Amino acid sequence: MQNQKKEQTLTQKVQSLAKRRGFVFQSSEIYGGFEATYDFGPLGAEMLRNLRNLWWKEFVHRQKNIVGLDSAIISHPRVWDASGHTESFADAMVEDLKTHKRYRADHIIESAIGENVDGYDLKELDKIIEDNKILSPDGNKLSKAKYFNQLVEVKIGTTEETKSTAYLRGETCQPIFYNFQLVKDSMRLKIPFGIAQIGKAFRNEIKVGPYFFRTREFEQMELEMYVNPKDADEYFEEFKKWSIKWLTEELGITKDKLRLRDQEFKERAHYNKVATDVEYEFDFGWKEFQGIHNRGNWDLTRHGEYSGVDFTYKDDKTGEEYIPNVVEYSIGLNRLMFVLLQDSYVEEDDRVVLKLDKKIAPYQVAVFPLMKNKPELVAKADEVYKMLVEKDLNVAWDERGNVGKRYYSQDEIGTPKCVTIDYTTLEDNTVTIRDRDTKEQIRVKIDEIYENL
Ligand code: ATP
Repeated sequence: MQNQKKEQTLTQKVQSLAKRRGFVFQSSEIYGGFEATYDFGPLGAEMLRNLRNLWWKEFVHRQKNIVGLDSAIISHPRVWDASGHTESFADAMVEDLKTHKRYRADHIIESAIGENVDGYDLKELDKIIEDNKILSPDGNKLSKAKYFNQLVEVKIGTTEETKSTAYLRGETCQPIFYNFQLVKDSMRLKIPFGIAQIGKAFRNEIKVGPYFFRTREFEQMELEMYVNPKDADEYFEEFKKWSIKWLTEELGITKDKLRLRDQEFKERAHYNKVATDVEYEFDFGWKEFQGIHNRGNWDLTRHGEYSGVDFTYKDDKTGEEYIPNVVEYSIGLNRLMFVLLQDSYVEEDDRVVLKLDKKIAPYQVAVFPLMKNKPELVAKADEVYKMLVEKDLNVAWDERGNVGKRYYSQDEIGTPKCVTIDYTTLEDNTVTIRDRDTKEQIRVKIDEIYENL
């Protein structure tokens, strides 16, 4: 048993904990699952909600010139023509000529010869596969590379004849661009200002996984900053520093496991002038979980061309006129959660602990009556529970088994503090607070619990 545990990768350990403790489930499990689709269970939902709130607080509420948006997931199909997605939001794929399984050409090449071929065209990919005699993972010959569009189509309409094709949004930022004028005018904003959005995005990814690293439905948190073109480089540099500061200081992610990687010219998406990936060292390698991009004026220019709206901005003070440039901060919420689960997972002595920051952990505190069959203890613990909930804390309630087991159970889901109500509480109104990381226990008065958390 012990040996089996050692052989597991960190991702496998996190996956089994996440299922056992209600963070992440395979979607539609009773039907055999649905590829690359996950449901976030009770604790996963709490953690995602904490992350959304922390991000919104930092990137919207703390900033006087950044506002939020909550747009529709399905928009006018022309949006995706203007954005370039119907034309070039595509991955090059190759097919195993025997099994007919499809693979992303760049992934096949990278795992065969370790070369990063992001942004190579079909001919270049075919040549590399041919020159290096690269075969499919099953050892068979591969087809020529072909493009496969990643937009997820939906049919909208009441009758079969009137149904038309639309798309589930491929990224959350496009509605931020086409709403530029409405947001600016309704909020009386002047450049520089930003619009942020958190929400679902959908992509027909060919290669998915590992686990929920790459899925077809995911959530993004994106900020688009509209700036004077001459200030764009400065904002781009500032966003890199801001991002690392937030990830390390606010979320507590290990600094040495983060790095910024500037994308090569060929890797960049069609709209980016410059782009930097923020990468984390997962157990399966350094991988991107955030992008910082200088998109120039691509987005507003294209939406201008396709809609006929003039997005020229006039500066009242200087009289200068320009199409605003966009500097973007884009992070995957689910992928960020994956980073945090890997980063916080610790096996220590005989326990597993998720050393999550208290702002991120599903529960900030757990409350235990020492014994569940003693009504006076349960009533007192219930009072403490309600008091802490009213202080806007997420509070866990556990009355099963011995207290030692309950501590370990809370350690495993990252609860930073546990409060136990025992017989002494009934006499002098004090409780025991036990710390997740040090395992130390202190005795404090009930009205001092909050400040001791
Ligand atoms: P990748 O190269 O990993 O497919 P990308 O470069 O296409 O990602 P962007 O379009 O820049 O990603 O999206 C910004 C962020 O959204 C990514 O850094 C990632 O965190 C998240 N993201 C993108 N695609 C997915 C996906 N299929 N599943 C989960 N998260 C994703």
